[in-house]
Amino acid sequence: TAKRRGRGMVQTFNQEIRDTLARRLKLARDLPDAITGRRIRPFYQPIMGTTDRKIQAVEALARWDHPELGPVSPEEFIAIAQESGLLSDLDTVILDTACREVGPWLKDRSITYLSVNASPMDIVGVDFAERFLASLEATGTNPEHICLEIVESAIVGNLEAAYRNLEHLSQAGVMIALDDYGTGFSNLRALLDLPLDKLKIDQSLIQSIGSNNKIADLMTSIMQLADTLQVNVVAEGIETKLQAAFVTSVGCHLMQGYLFSRPQSFDSLSKWLTANEIRAA
Ligand code: C2E
Ligand code: MG
Ligand code: MG
Ligand code: MG
Repeated sequence: TAKRRGRGMVQTFNQEIRDTLARRLKLARDLPDAITGRRIRPFYQPIMGTTDRKIQAVEALARWDHPELGPVSPEEFIAIAQESGLLSDLDTVILDTACREVGPWLKDRSITYLSVNASPMDIVGVDFAERFLASLEATGTNPEHICLEIVESAIVGNLEAAYRNLEHLSQAGVMIALDDYGTGFSNLRALLDLPLDKLKIDQSLIQSIGSNNKIADLMTSIMQLADTLQVNVVAEGIETKLQAAFVTSVGCHLMQGYLFSRPQSFDSLSKWLTANEIRAA
């Protein structure tokens, strides 16, 4: 009967909630050791030049291969890390590991910079810039080879604290990129005031190329804005040749996406660089 079926649905629903909670609890319990034991590690996604189609940089993206649950997406464990107050530890481990692994490529100029993501909560912390620079120093990394990616939500609300940290980092030579551009409310005052070097256009805009006829005009006006701000533009989430050709034609400087490479482990990226003759074997 319908009633029985209804009860069955409620039971399935309750079971799903229980499973979700159990998974969350398990991840929250295992997270501290995964961070200190460095089982959460950076993967690297190449960032390509639009005109030369060569790798220019890499972005470090956190990955957790859980011994029992398998790969856990950053969206899932970053939320848990944030709730547990462990996100800045996680980011520090990612930064430190990435600097150690990619450091030699930065020194020999196989790539020009390493991009890392900052947590919104972090960049308003009082000593964020000091801690970040201390990490770079500990790994012998030139701040000029590092780009910090921040999202807009981090700066609205506490513009002053964010400004102080970013100004400090920028003075030290670190580049600042505004990530996921086009998804927030695009606070123009913040764009003007922050020491930005790059805008990363969100993949949701890139995915509308070809299906929305206003995208070309929109991209052109973003390029004009970038020109006014004197920042480089990176197009994210390039999956097709059409998208790559389009962002190149409107004048984006850099691009990133599955068309070129998914985020990959350090070993696999090393092989990729050698195969593409960017580094000697
Ligand atoms: P993000 O920084 O905007 O990174 C881009 C995301 O898009 C990555 O997802 C990447 O794997 C994915 N992506 C790249 N190219 C393509 C494409 O062509 N198509 C599609 N559909 N997706 C593409 P991922 O690795 O799952 O990371 C998600 C978000 O988690 C990141 O967005 C970033 O905000 C955050 N995140 C990742 N690692 C870290 C970290 O170490 N620290 C902090 N604080 N946040 C991180
Ligand atoms: Mg990013
Ligand atoms: Mg992004
Ligand atoms: Mg994102």
